[in-house]
Amino acid sequence: MGSLDGRVALVTGAARGIGQAIAVRLASAGADIALCDLDAAWLEETAGKVREAGRRVECFACDVSQAAQVAEVVDKAGAAFGRIDVLVNNAGITKDTFLARMSEADWDAVLDINLKGTFLFTKAVSRLMMKQRSGSIVNIASIIGLIGNAGQCNYAASKAGVIALTKSVAKELASRNVRANAVAPGFIRTKMTEKLPEDIQKKMLEQIPLARFGEPDDVARVVLFLAGDDSAYVTGQVVSVCGGMVTA
Ligand code: NDP
Repeated sequence: MGSLDGRVALVTGAARGIGQAIAVRLASAGADIALCDLDAAWLEETAGKVREAGRRVECFACDVSQAAQVAEVVDKAGAAFGRIDVLVNNAGITKDTFLARMSEADWDAVLDINLKGTFLFTKAVSRLMMKQRSGSIVNIASIIGLIGNAGQCNYAASKAGVIALTKSVAKELASRNVRANAVAPGFIRTKMTEKLPEDIQKKMLEQIPLARFGEPDDVARVVLFLAGDDSAYVTGQVVSVCGGMVTA
């Protein structure tokens, strides 16, 4: 018996990387899964893995920064599955450059997808969760939202915003038995990080006490804990998954 038997989870940005690992991990624990990414066709690989785990899956195209698209996906997923027990706000992007060179467009794109997208999905799904009188929201932040980083003003601000949003939502929805927590990954091996130059990757590795980069499933296993009843008394928290890089 899995810890999420009978539950339904919606995972954004699920076509690859951390989002794919989360969807597969939650499915392995018994959840049926609604997947969303910019293009539904990109979700086929993840959907295949969810089916292999024996779970039902539905795929939705959605740009998380567009309110109308988010509302439509949540309506359709709610109708298809009858409920949503777990929301994982994972979709995220970087547009790294130093402050002096950062355009307004670079700022807006990152804030719109990482922070506004999390707000839009949280607002839409929390309506269902409040009616159900249960739910778990897990937001994928970043240790950069805790410690900042040169060249990532937009990304750091968006992820710090996700953390503050999470803490506020946790306080607002606790009385309806809806929990909200954030996971703050460090350096995880995905398409997002593979584009970093080798010398930067080497420097980062030197700062990781566990002396290895994280894998998407390192994050997914913590998300599973926060998604299910093992964390029933945990809300408004930030769990860093970073090999010990950040300890506060
Ligand atoms: P990836 O870039 O590998 O995957 C992100 C997924 O989100 C992609 O499929 C991407 O689609 C999708 N996406 C992008 N924009 C949107 C949008 N507007 N609407 C819907 N989906 C979208 O990233 P990771 O797996 O590495 O990262 C996942 C999350 O983890 C992000 O929030 C990231 O900030 C966070 N994180 C990652 C870390 C790491 O080291 N990898 C560290 C800390 C946090 P597309 O193919 O178009 O880009």
